[in-house]
Amino acid sequence: MDKIWSLPPVSLLSLTEVEDRRPATVVTTPPAFELVGKKIQIPVTSVLEVREATRQHWDALLALSQPSEVIYAVGGGLAFDAAKYLAVKQGLPLVGIPTALSVDAIFAWSSAIREEGCVRYIETKTADLLIVDLEFIASAPPHLRAAGICDLLSIATGCSDWRLADLRGQNPPSMTYHAAIEKIAHSILEATIDCAPSAGKGDPQGLKQLLDCLALETQLLNQIGHARPEEGSEHYFAYLAENYVGKGRSHAELVCPGILLMAALQGQDVAILRQAMRQCHVPLNSLDPNVIQVVLRELPEYVRRHALPYGIAHEITEEKIKQLDLAQILG
Ligand SMILES: [Zn+2]
Repeated sequence: MDKIWSLPPVSLLSLTEVEDRRPATVVTTPPAFELVGKKIQIPVTSVLEVREATRQHWDALLALSQPSEVIYAVGGGLAFDAAKYLAVKQGLPLVGIPTALSVDAIFAWSSAIREEGCVRYIETKTADLLIVDLEFIASAPPHLRAAGICDLLSIATGCSDWRLADLRGQNPPSMTYHAAIEKIAHSILEATIDCAPSAGKGDPQGLKQLLDCLALETQLLNQIGHARPEEGSEHYFAYLAENYVGKGRSHAELVCPGILLMAALQGQDVAILRQAMRQCHVPLNSLDPNVIQVVLRELPEYVRRHALPYGIAHEITEEKIKQLDLAQILG
């Protein structure tokens, strides 16, 4: 690690105040731009609709874009990840307008791509400016507006994985366990659980606290140069499950069941985590119980095949799966 990234500067303002004279390429997922486009004033040269997270698709979008001086990411994680990639390829500044607080990708310097049934992060860039209109985000569909809570509640399982890896001597030197970092991460987790009811309701103050938590979590990962305090077996579960249920599911509806299942396997109390997910309207019943069983069985081999950092997923056995009461865990 030879570089510590920073968060993008954030402008908290109403979308109706956004004015930009530079010709702009908009990278978005429908229907995000239908709503935002009516509020902001920018000369749009092309609107690129992102459908999947692969380099191939993003390169195809690149070929479609008309000359412009700035790229706007409008939407959630998928739009941001593609826009970051395009901005780097074209050497253009990037402005991000999240339409919901649905993932931490709005703050991150990397883009997640799907490769051989798994997720890989490639270095791209952070937005040069993030425009956050909390009133607008409050009006997003309830199951999305605060769904980014999944990337914060995952601290519960991510940190536990990181500690387990330490215990097993499985952390490479670049990911050495630090109790002080786990402590900071847990403070962010507490602040997250604290704001879940208000953020879930779309209260701007609650959404602001959730935004702060996402920012602090991202910068914590930036400081240590890896994602272990926040990303572990719950994400691996989500990555594998995606192969069975296909695209189009929100990050939260795959990661949240993963958090509850992995937390149960780690011997943690899942009630508080589940309550926060419910308060943020994350659907916990999107996955068929049969699919969950299949994913849990395949997970230990999957994480080894993809050389994912060590965690509880590596230690799942048939015996442990049998002991899980899925209906009770997922509520
Ligand atoms: Zn995530």
